[in-house]
Amino acid sequence: MKQKGILTVVSGFSGAGKGTLMKNLVQRYEEYALSISATTRNPREGEVHGKDYFFKTKEEFEKMIDKEELIEYANYVDNYYGTPRDYVESQLCEGKDVILEIEMIGALKVKEKYPDTLLLFVTPPNVEELKKRLIGRGTESIEVIRSRLNRGKDEAKVMNQYDYLIVNDNLDDTVQKMHQIIQNEHLRCSRN
Ligand code: 5GP
Repeated sequence: MKQKGILTVVSGFSGAGKGTLMKNLVQRYEEYALSISATTRNPREGEVHGKDYFFKTKEEFEKMIDKEELIEYANYVDNYYGTPRDYVESQLCEGKDVILEIEMIGALKVKEKYPDTLLLFVTPPNVEELKKRLIGRGTESIEVIRSRLNRGKDEAKVMNQYDYLIVNDNLDDTVQKMHQIIQNEHLRCSRN
């Protein structure tokens, strides 16, 4: 029988570089499946429906909630974000290691539902770097950046509920570290 995949949640401050990390991880190692979330926020330039997110209206999103199609959902800076259930459960059964890149309220809900979930928290090397990345990508207004940095302060308070804190100072090293942590988890699970 195929071994069930490991569910990993990656959270971190907005601007920590999670998106780039996740893309690199799934490109480099074929055992990972990256879940695509649903959201009510507007697409950024270059974002594609069904690849970066499933972009939904508020009504469509609320219908998904009612039909219990989401494993978890949360409100983040005035928009809904949620994880579609079907993809995650089918990929885990196929033996794929599934990665969710979600904020911490959703992350803790996932951990409650699936206690074996591995929780990883990614931070940039320092706050200045975080601000630089957020402003530098030029995709959000200054008000939204401010809200995202404020939200980061709340997130810092629950960081200690995560299994690992990973400092993202170098893309290649960080991808390698994440891969190693998840593979170690496979070994740990097979021993238990
Ligand atoms: P962004 O708008 O920058 O793409 O994402 C904003 C925040 O929403 C990030 O912290 C991201 O991790 C989180 N997020 C993305 N998808 C989901 C999801 O499905 N559920 C939850 N709870 N958070 C999500």
